[in-house]
Amino acid sequence: MRVHVVGNVCVDTTYRLDRFPAAGETLNASEHADGLGGKGANQAVAAARTGADVRFHTAIGSDAAGTWIREQLSRDLDASHLTMLPLPSDRSAIMVDGRGENLIVTGASCAAAFDPLADGGFARSIEHGNIVVMQGNLSPETTRACLRASRDAAAVTIFNPSPLTAGYAPISSDVSLAIANAGEAALLTGAAEPAAAAREMIRQGAGAAIVTLGAQGCLVADGEGRIDRIAAPRVTVVDTSGAGDVFCGSLAGCLAAGIDLATAARIAVRAAAISVGRAGTLGSGPDRREMKILMETTEAEAA
Ligand code: AMP
Repeated sequence: MRVHVVGNVCVDTTYRLDRFPAAGETLNASEHADGLGGKGANQAVAAARTGADVRFHTAIGSDAAGTWIREQLSRDLDASHLTMLPLPSDRSAIMVDGRGENLIVTGASCAAAFDPLADGGFARSIEHGNIVVMQGNLSPETTRACLRASRDAAAVTIFNPSPLTAGYAPISSDVSLAIANAGEAALLTGAAEPAAAAREMIRQGAGAAIVTLGAQGCLVADGEGRIDRIAAPRVTVVDTSGAGDVFCGSLAGCLAAGIDLATAARIAVRAAAISVGRAGTLGSGPDRREMKILMETTEAEAA
């Protein structure tokens, strides 16, 4: 079953400095490097590494960065369908100081302008039973419309409403499965307690809900409000960035492989924990070989 990930992609440029510059000051970074980023890209790559057939609906600019993004994505998935807009590609400048604190500035003109429904291609590409994964980086109107179009095409929709920007798309009956971290789930629902927040997301229309709980793993609430708690393996934390994206993408890929929700969540928790134990965002999740082993061993335990 195909997985469609609809979302953003950007070039993350990370600068390492002893301290942040003051206004008007210029500092030399001790290191700088470009990496592929964007929640959409992170989730699409994680889904592809489960072996799923992934179509990534995103927009790049008509510039050298767009060409670079396409090359990077091609390592993990078919990047021939990306929409090219007459804009600069999306970029983030990430400054990390000696204490590990960060300052981030993002230019997201492609994500703001991207409308997958504009030429009808998105709606035509969604087939009955396909899985559509969305996050919070596209405009709320676009997100809402794509979720609706996906449900109209009888697809299964996974919505990870992160980041929670102003006027964010709400959880609705167009969402088959909502996935939020504990902080976002509390903001979305007004319920501080994760199980209550998950049940509230279902009351808001989601078919099922998952709240991720960092080192505590996650909890899964099914349509009847039954709660299943899944513990995370203990890992030495190196870099938690992108862990939630590895979780969402791996889960979608597992569901596409026909794995049941509870087992898929167990695999996703373990995949995300592996990424926490390694440096980096996109590259830090399990690769295809590791993912295959993780899926086989977790499924064998569940059998
Ligand atoms: P979060 O977005 O912090 O809720 O984390 C998403 C997922 O990443 C969790 O469900 C875990 O699978 C994994 N994770 C995050 N932090 C840790 C940690 N300290 N130890 C193990 N796994 C973690």
